[in-house]
Amino acid sequence: MIELSVFPRRGDFSRPWKWLILGGLFFLSNCSAPPVQGPGKISGFLSSSLQSQLESEKLILSVPTSQQFGAHLLYLTEEPHQTGSPRNYKLAEYVRDCFLEYGLEKVHFHDTPALLGFGRSVLVEIAEPVKKKLKMVEDPYPLDKDSGLYADHSVVPYHEYAPSAEITAEVVYANGGSPEDFAELDRLGIEVKGRIVIMRYSNPYSYRGYKVYLAESRGAAGSIIYSDPQDDGFFRGETYPLGPWGPPSHIQWGGIVYDWFGFGITPFTFHWQKQDDGTWVEGPNRNKALPRIPSVPMSHEDASEILRLLKGPAVSVGWQGGLPFTYHVGPGPVKVHLKVDNVEKIALMRNVMAIVRGSQEPDKWVIAGNHRDAWIYGGLDPSSGTAALLEVARALGTAVKQGFRPRRTIVLANWDAEEDLLGGSTSWVNDNRAKLLQDGVVYVNLDSAASGPEFDGGSTPALADFLRETAKAVAHPDIPGGSVYDHWVKASTSGTAEVNEIVGATDYTAFQENIGMSCIDMTFDGPYGVYHSMYDDYFWMSHIGDPGFRYNVTCTQLLTLILWRLANADILPMDYSNYAGSALNAIEKIENMAGLPKKIRLERARKPARRWLKEALAWEKKARRFLDSEVSLDPNRASEINSLLMGIERALTEGEGLKSRPFYKHLIYAPQPTYRTELLPRIFEAIKAQEWNDIPRYEEQLVQAFDHASRLIRRASRRL
Ligand SMILES: [Zn+2]
Repeated sequence: MIELSVFPRRGDFSRPWKWLILGGLFFLSNCSAPPVQGPGKISGFLSSSLQSQLESEKLILSVPTSQQFGAHLLYLTEEPHQTGSPRNYKLAEYVRDCFLEYGLEKVHFHDTPALLGFGRSVLVEIAEPVKKKLKMVEDPYPLDKDSGLYADHSVVPYHEYAPSAEITAEVVYANGGSPEDFAELDRLGIEVKGRIVIMRYSNPYSYRGYKVYLAESRGAAGSIIYSDPQDDGFFRGETYPLGPWGPPSHIQWGGIVYDWFGFGITPFTFHWQKQDDGTWVEGPNRNKALPRIPSVPMSHEDASEILRLLKGPAVSVGWQGGLPFTYHVGPGPVKVHLKVDNVEKIALMRNVMAIVRGSQEPDKWVIAGNHRDAWIYGGLDPSSGTAALLEVARALGTAVKQGFRPRRTIVLANWDAEEDLLGGSTSWVNDNRAKLLQDGVVYVNLDSAASGPEFDGGSTPALADFLRETAKAVAHPDIPGGSVYDHWVKASTSGTAEVNEIVGATDYTAFQENIGMSCIDMTFDGPYGVYHSMYDDYFWMSHIGDPGFRYNVTCTQLLTLILWRLANADILPMDYSNYAGSALNAIEKIENMAGLPKKIRLERARKPARRWLKEALAWEKKARRFLDSEVSLDPNRASEINSLLMGIERALTEGEGLKSRPFYKHLIYAPQPTYRTELLPRIFEAIKAQEWNDIPRYEEQLVQAFDHASRLIRRASRRL
């Protein structure tokens, strides 16, 4: 496999990255310190704006409290609240009522119908050589009142969008189910056709839907994906209820839609058709973005029963997991009987939207979003993020009440159906596309707020330094007198504040990949092994993950400050020299991709990228000098300059999109179907498909984009 692949963070998918070593950090950012600020300086602000800004920052940082955060979290996690469930609509009303109470404006629902899937029953039993029914439930723990969930037999762990089916077949173990793992099975001469493929969730992280797809496309009869203790269980440390890692019975639920086939362009209702009476019926041809083989998630307790009976060759290096026996690949002799009954229906995805109207550039939107829907209780994912968003709303409302209205409009979004198909955020972006292309400033995503003390921030390169600088202005609870930035540096292996590349696959996807908006995605990490299981609940959050919610309040403060600075800066703090540097780095990485049958040189693209870098450096110097020395900037001029700066990220997209995924229009970043990073995606995909003749045309798109970016920067510079 091509070496360029790195393993990104994900949203639904939203946690597994955390036990991986991340690649793909911004090379320039890694070695450059944030811009040195004089005392009391903030990038993008005129000296004359500073006093009011600092005063208002003090106010907004003082608003979020652990009591209020905890009260929101308790309410949000009281019951399971999947997309389409009565409880999730109820929580939409709760979020709406909070937004109204805090004084936000234009509070409303944004509804879109979507196809959703639910588990109705599941039976997994070993059929041969011995008959044994597997548990397929998570064990209760008496002190955690929410953990009795499975006493209600209608609760069924499942993979959303897997079809109902009943099969009995031999089993093959395929490690993490990545393209490399299936290639290894080929090498061993082991076929999965007609068999049930059992795979582990991670190692390295690969999107679960793509694992099922790879199994399906090789003719497998069914799929089981289980949580290996090496990845998120006892192998990592103390397990729930004593520690943060997954207990033997924990099951990671999840969606497995083949989103790369139609993300953002297929209607969210897929092949279902609306009748004259308003009801929906399933159309004749199942959409190809929906799986065709049954698939179930499984605990390692159940999976070990199957794995220990597998024979065939012992696994190769890297395939052995944490269970106390030698793993074998199979096939068989163990046979499994799998009976899955899932139901699909059309229901409304309900986003809750609100704004804080801007005073001087009200047309421009700084947006923050978090999803509300959870697989089960969603203690961390996503309810901690929702509780944080509500505290952000309270802080912003308080600021406005005390006379601090932001310069630009802040939009708060509480998305639905992220876990299913990134549906809420994508549908809203589709419905507001023209407006966002024109006026979208930045999108900041918060999925899970905090499972521990370690800040984990990603962004498009233009905002990496902004993120570092803002992290310096928020206190970290573990360092007396120190900041989030200090902790970030201390906790990193490189000794620098590393900002991750982000490549879609959670709620920022549509903003970054389709619109070309600058994005930030953030969370605070700690050990966490109960992702998408029943144990991700209030008990885990309040007793194990973050007792006292100190890190969650810190996360809330940082998110509030990020929005407040982006909404108030006189000149947007977008650093395009960093971006040009990242683009040059991407060119070099593509040229040095391992295993290329022929040498690729992208000299034509490199030259304009260098020009862009030069223009950006000149602009940054001029802007800094201007902000330091001038006392005012005409609002119209400021607005014009900011529009030009926002337009640069837009210039890095083109209308056509990727050949097989037209929704993905960004020229520098895209996720692969596995959700690994794809740099310069058009060229990357042409290389993979060996379509060498397409490369000059794709390189020309880069030339145009970099030249366009340079022109926009020059215009901003002239206008200043
Ligand atoms: Zn999430």
